[in-house]
Amino acid sequence: MTIRTASDWRSDATRLRFRRQAFIDGKTVDALSGLTFPAINPASGSTLVSVAACDQADVDVAVKSSRTAFERGAWSAISPSARKRVLLRLAELMMTHADELALLESLNMGKPITDSRNIDVPVSANCIAWNAEAIDKLYGEIAPTGSDALALVTREPLGVVAAVVPWNFPLLMACWKLGPALAAGNSVILKPAEQSPLSALRLAELAMEAGLPEGVLNVLPGLGETAGQALGLHMDVDALAFTGSTEVGKLFMGYSGKSNMKRVSLECGGKTPHIILRDCPNLDAAAQAVASGIFFNQGEVCNAGSRLLVEEPIREALLEKVIAISAGYMPGDPLDPATTMGAIVSKPQMDRVLEYIDSGKNEGAALVRGGKRVRVESGGFFVEPTVFDGVRNNMRIAREEIFGPVLSVVSCASAEEAVRVANDTIYGLAAAIWTSNIDTALSASRRLRAGSVWVNCFDEGNITVPFGGFKQSGFGRDKSIHAIEKYSDLKTTWIKINPTPAAARVLT
Ligand code: NDP
Repeated sequence: MTIRTASDWRSDATRLRFRRQAFIDGKTVDALSGLTFPAINPASGSTLVSVAACDQADVDVAVKSSRTAFERGAWSAISPSARKRVLLRLAELMMTHADELALLESLNMGKPITDSRNIDVPVSANCIAWNAEAIDKLYGEIAPTGSDALALVTREPLGVVAAVVPWNFPLLMACWKLGPALAAGNSVILKPAEQSPLSALRLAELAMEAGLPEGVLNVLPGLGETAGQALGLHMDVDALAFTGSTEVGKLFMGYSGKSNMKRVSLECGGKTPHIILRDCPNLDAAAQAVASGIFFNQGEVCNAGSRLLVEEPIREALLEKVIAISAGYMPGDPLDPATTMGAIVSKPQMDRVLEYIDSGKNEGAALVRGGKRVRVESGGFFVEPTVFDGVRNNMRIAREEIFGPVLSVVSCASAEEAVRVANDTIYGLAAAIWTSNIDTALSASRRLRAGSVWVNCFDEGNITVPFGGFKQSGFGRDKSIHAIEKYSDLKTTWIKINPTPAAARVLT
């Protein structure tokens, strides 16, 4: 692989073609209303392109196309191994176009190009490939009936699945839904976030090139209140897979109840506790993990380790190390491969982060690092890595999801107290604990109410393990074989052997 410099990426960016139309039934189309919205580069505040603003009318067309494709069976009824071949081709094409996809991601949502190119794109392609490889290895069941019957338990695709995804990992969140949903034989309608539609529109083209039949993947850029809501309320959408805020997740549960009881799966917010106990096996490693846990992706991560719960005897030493490491996360041009923290996705999101920083100061926490907007002259939306010490768990910065590079440090007197404070939140997406004592680690892990618990590490894992939340972080899991369960239904086929006129019916 050739080493690419900032000027290589900037020069590629000037030649990049942005897709601006929706992708329905294998064709690129404008929104029926003719309306558009701007796709912004958050590193400069400038408009990259105006994108089709789809609404209810476009949703109706897309759902019809998806339903027709599903019933035609050119995808839903072919063998799993045939679906696998197409999806593997898609994963390959994503890697062939990895530079282009990475550039779209960085330009459209502000993340560092090194992360887009080395994490977002390959991990997304791997998710598609992994689900492709899995789907022709899943067997049905034969139930333990008596000898007079054969009962088959099989998995069937649901039909039309809508995926509504956020802007923090646009391609990856899309692929976490598309991989298992498409592998299972569904037709999918993807609505990317209004801040970050560009990689999804390119992905749709690559999927066609890979051989996905028309209508099996439709991509509808548009606003949440119009296109997102129309998908949530549609009577002919069978399932809705969502990643985003808890607030909007709750709306989707309401849409489902008001319409056709479509299955809803929700991956929502978090306020991840990162616990460091006094017997931490390696304070340097822990400090690195704390810093990357909150500053990676500008802190715009649902499981960002935004609450550092540290035992008092090591608080000062740890904090000193975290603050020193945070200097390496000063925001820079996302297209410079040396940049480790890029731009916040939008002006409203930056303002929201700055407002939380004000609230931390007003509530009496001690701002010990950062706290300001920087690189103002670029026109972009950059915030320094920020650390608050002396935080109490009832402050807003400890309770609400900031979705920015803001760490809240809460001092704890014991492991017991740390676990109690960790669980004192409406969220339950993830948690981490550093200790040298395996008993402490395991008993804390059992008591931590979170979908993922990391021991002596942070945010580790791969496609083989499920990811999702407890409590108001949602339900349903992305990744691993369990994700496929979300996009399929169990069917029982009971076959009578040697049918004879029924005697008395015995229910068991
Ligand atoms: P949202 O939850 O608002 O957006 C996620 C998706 O839902 C987007 O595609 C959005 O569309 C859509 N949506 C928004 N409103 C509606 C609606 N009324 N009906 C149907 N769909 C809707 O997240 P935001 O982008 O606004 O971010 C706000 C906060 O949410 C963040 O600060 C963070 O706290 C949290 N968040 C959490 C994420 C996670 O992974 N857990 C990811 C992103 C955000 P559109 O963007 O086009 O309006």
